[in-house]
Amino acid sequence: MARTDRGTDGAEDGDGRDGGVVSRRELLASLGGAGAASAITPRTTSATADTSRVRVRVYPGPVPLHGWAHAGVAGMHRDWPLPFRDGFEAIEATLERVREYADQHSRLEGLEIEVERGSPVRYPLSAADGPGEFVAPSLSTVLEAFREQLSRRDVLEELTTHVLFCWSPFNYRVGYGGTLSPNAAIGSTAQADDGTDVTPDSDTARTPVDGALAVVNLGATEVWDSRPVTRNMAIHETLHTFLTPEVAEAVNDSPCDHDLGAAVQSEDDGRRLQVTPMATAYAGPDRIRVADGAARFPGRGCANHDAFTRHDGYEDVDRRAYTATPTDATLEAATRYLERTLSG
Ligand SMILES: [Zn+2]
Repeated sequence: MARTDRGTDGAEDGDGRDGGVVSRRELLASLGGAGAASAITPRTTSATADTSRVRVRVYPGPVPLHGWAHAGVAGMHRDWPLPFRDGFEAIEATLERVREYADQHSRLEGLEIEVERGSPVRYPLSAADGPGEFVAPSLSTVLEAFREQLSRRDVLEELTTHVLFCWSPFNYRVGYGGTLSPNAAIGSTAQADDGTDVTPDSDTARTPVDGALAVVNLGATEVWDSRPVTRNMAIHETLHTFLTPEVAEAVNDSPCDHDLGAAVQSEDDGRRLQVTPMATAYAGPDRIRVADGAARFPGRGCANHDAFTRHDGYEDVDRRAYTATPTDATLEAATRYLERTLSG
């Protein structure tokens, strides 16, 4: 499979810390900003969105009993534990920021972005193929099961991003989550311009559908990290679907979405490194924890600290803080992507 910046965030291939050592119960269960100062110059074109309506729908995946034990039972009757609620609110606030940013620069006028809850998604054991899949379904398998359920519900639309919140803290193959082509960005379509079906992505054999699909493993952020990482990661995976290598490069001279993020030392004593959503899991040195509070699954995708919109380094840093505020570069790139997609 071609690995680009799109793909699995913070996953390991099986030799990781949790290398497949799961109890039978877990195994059954698991299936189931630093507003960094930036030198970004906003464009001033006036592509309008007319009556365009962009939608993000967030679906709760199965939460195993140990998940409820960890998260608390509030929301159990609706399949919405508190971490899912907080992740949802973080996504909602972020897309409002994107809209506000565009509005401040008189762009995407008339754009409406709706963030709403979808009904629960179940992914049955049959969605897993081989024994390896049974232990820890891959991101691709989880996305495929998600796609099939959405397809049956007939809710796949070009201008919708579908986000699955899953609780699989031991699934090192899904890691923190991710997106995969050919449905990695909102505006994706299953049909070519001439109306014929697009053939499956040759690298992946995945069948394209309308819209974007993303998975966020809030079980991993909650169990291994913290609520701020949960919020930060929910934003991260959702924003991937509003970014492409082309817009990332146009804004930040790097085609990697993660480089749109920033890691900024706090101004009071410089000992706290504040990490913005797209930099989550990519802000630290590879696989080495240098400070308390660092995201536990280091990212595997692209990310070059020198290419970040800002990275202040680790000198004297003894803790990290994960903010829910994307950088201006991230907002600019998402705005450009929406301009391009909605005017196309
Ligand atoms: Zn990512």
